[in-house]
Amino acid sequence: MKVPLLELVRQYRELQGEIDPAVKAVLEKGVFILGENVAKFEEEAAAYCGTKYAVGVANGTDALELAIKSFGIGDGDEVITTPFTFIATTEAICLNGAKPVLVDIEPDTFNIDADRIEKAITPRTKAIVPVHLFGQACDMVAVMGIAEKHGIKIIEDCAQAIGAEFRSKKVGGFGDIGCFSFFPSKNLGCFGDGGMVTTDNKALADRVMMLRAHGQAGRYRHETEGRNSRLDELQAAILRVKLRHLDAWNDSRRNNAGIYDKLFENLSRAGKLTVPVEKKDRKHVYNIYNIKIKERDKLRESLTVKDVATAVYYPIPLHLQPVYSGLGWKKGDFPVSEKACEEVLALPVFPELNEEEAGFVAQAVIDFLEGGN
Ligand SMILES: *Cc1c(COP(=O)(O)O)cnc(C)c1O
Repeated sequence: MKVPLLELVRQYRELQGEIDPAVKAVLEKGVFILGENVAKFEEEAAAYCGTKYAVGVANGTDALELAIKSFGIGDGDEVITTPFTFIATTEAICLNGAKPVLVDIEPDTFNIDADRIEKAITPRTKAIVPVHLFGQACDMVAVMGIAEKHGIKIIEDCAQAIGAEFRSKKVGGFGDIGCFSFFPSKNLGCFGDGGMVTTDNKALADRVMMLRAHGQAGRYRHETEGRNSRLDELQAAILRVKLRHLDAWNDSRRNNAGIYDKLFENLSRAGKLTVPVEKKDRKHVYNIYNIKIKERDKLRESLTVKDVATAVYYPIPLHLQPVYSGLGWKKGDFPVSEKACEEVLALPVFPELNEEEAGFVAQAVIDFLEGGN
């Protein structure tokens, strides 16, 4: 059996009857930039996330970059995040001229270890970017307590976690601003690139709206330089359709994760592999189902031979990336992240994965660990 890591066409087939007319309506109307679909999607997405405002932007990286810019964070400032995330998180900091300051992760959730944040705070620290990695929220009580105590901002990286909850509240509504990606492989993905910020602060929402359109404050009146970073009208029309199905898809991801958890119970108890942990006070939405296993590379090869697609998120922690070799970090600086990079393996968990496929994947993992093939 051939099992893909993700097969987007399955989702399109299910929704074709809703998506095709939505796309056609945009083509027939002929408004492609900041039309009614963007405005309506912003309203609907804000309601979904439980925030007052949402602002569509071109992608998740821009969401982070514009969020940081909206606070005026730049040269000489420091922003705290972790080395175990996608590079967009630190890129957005560096592109603003600020310096990323890294803090190691918790071994079980892969998220920022709040106990280590305060040691990293200096008089130049302006913000913390907690990344809700793989679909599970960070400990937002701890992170927000620290931010409040030190008077620094929280910019949530929710790219992998739309719909995830901490104490029954959705991510993107905790910090000063939340940043989302609609890259096709995210839990809510469009047919290209897309992104969004969420906030309860009207002035911030207005500022990001201005920044996404060249700093325009009125027609051809520019108070600042911004960017060209708008969410496309076509993508917004598609996202409006898809948003209505997001909760069902997240449930389906959780169900698939539950199937794996159960089938791996014995191996997990025997300490042969570690399944992802869902903390009691959280709702994990499994953008990625990452197991941890010592013989990761061998297992991955064995699964490839059996036509089971897998991926490694992430093989190299950010502090050891060639691009950051000039920043003074070295191997051993963030051991928990480094170990995660050696042991994680993502199994297919997308909503349309069926039970038979999940069973086949799990059996292939079990066969490798029990029979060595
Ligand atoms: C995908 C992702 C981003 C960036 O989103 P894009 O839409 O691809 O620019 C940022 N942070 C994390 C953690 C991501 O997974």
